[in-house]
Amino acid sequence: MTIGVVYSPRYLEHNDPSHPEHAGRLEAIVQVLQQDGAWDEAEPITPQPVSRERLTSLHTADYVEQVRQTAASGRAWLDMDTYLTPASYQVALLAAGGVIQGVEAVLAEQVEAALALVRPPGHHARPTRGMGFCLFNNVALAALQALENHDLERVLIIDWDVHHGNGTQEAFYHDGRVMYFSTHQFPYYPGTGAIQETGAGAGAGCIVNVPLPAGTGDAGYRRVFEEILLPASLRFRPQLVLVSAGFDPHWADGLATMRVSVRGFAHMAATVRQIAQACCPGRIVLALEGGYNLQALAYGVLASWRVWEGRDPASVDDPLGPARDERPADDPNLEQIIETVRAVHEL
Ligand SMILES: [Zn+2]
Repeated sequence: MTIGVVYSPRYLEHNDPSHPEHAGRLEAIVQVLQQDGAWDEAEPITPQPVSRERLTSLHTADYVEQVRQTAASGRAWLDMDTYLTPASYQVALLAAGGVIQGVEAVLAEQVEAALALVRPPGHHARPTRGMGFCLFNNVALAALQALENHDLERVLIIDWDVHHGNGTQEAFYHDGRVMYFSTHQFPYYPGTGAIQETGAGAGAGCIVNVPLPAGTGDAGYRRVFEEILLPASLRFRPQLVLVSAGFDPHWADGLATMRVSVRGFAHMAATVRQIAQACCPGRIVLALEGGYNLQALAYGVLASWRVWEGRDPASVDDPLGPARDERPADDPNLEQIIETVRAVHEL
C-alpha cells in the first residue's frame, strides 16, 4: 500500500517557540517517522498554496485580507491564542493547499492514503475569523475541493482532536454533502459541540457530535467509534474520508485531560480504515490538527500510518503506554452520552 506524505520545511516558518503550537511539533513527527523507516517508504507529495478561488469559497475576502495584512505587519495576535508572524499568511496558504494536495493524490489514485503533516492547524478557523491556533480551515477547504472539483457528493470528516472543530461544523452546518463527526472533551474550548447541534436544512442530521467527559480513554473512545461512528458512516456512505487528526486526547497531553494512549489512536485509525474500505476503497486523508506532547503526537501519527497499511492496532509502537486512570467502558456518564447520541441520530 502506498502512503503519501505531504510535507514542506516551510511549515516550520510559522513559529513561536514559547507557544504550544510551535514548529518543533512537526520536527518531532518527522524525526520519529525517519527513525522508524516509514518516511523513506512514503510517496512524497509537494504542497502548493491553496488557490484564492478555493480559499474564498469558504473564508470571506475581508478575513483573508485581514490575515495577510496583520501577518505582514510583523509579529501579532489574531486572538488571545493565535499568533501571526510575517511568514504565517504564506504558510497557512500552504497548509490548506497541502491537505488539498493530499486529496488530489488520493482521488487520482497516485496513493491509497495520504498524511498531510501541515501547520498551522485549521479546524477552529471560521469563515469570518481564525481562532484557537488556526488561520484557515484546511480540512474544510479540502472537503470543498473534493466536492466541487471532483464531483464527489459525500465526504466524511472524522475529527478526533480533543477540541470541537467549531469552524468545520460551521462550514457545513447547512450542507448535506459533508458528514462531520467529532469526539471532544466537553464542556471545554471552544464551547460548541453539544449533542443537539446536528445540522440544519440540507445538513440536518449530518453533524454528529459526541461530547465526552474528562478522563475518557481508549475503552470509551473505542465504544464511541464502534457504536456511533461506524454505523453512522456506513449509512452515509462517504466517497472520501478526511481525518482531522489531533493527538491532544492523549493522556500525556498538557492541554486537555483525556486518557487516550497511542494504541488507542491506533484502534480509532482501524475503525477509520474499516469505514474507508467498506465505502470508498482506501481514500483516507489525514489532516494534522492539535497534539502538544511531542512523543504522543509523533507516535500517534506513526500508529495511524501503520494501521492504514494493515498493521494490527494492538502491535503498534507505544513508548508511553496506557493511561492508568481512564473511565471504564461502562462508566454511566459515558453510557448515557452514547445512548443519547444514538437516539438523536436514530442509530
Ligand atoms: Zn485540539
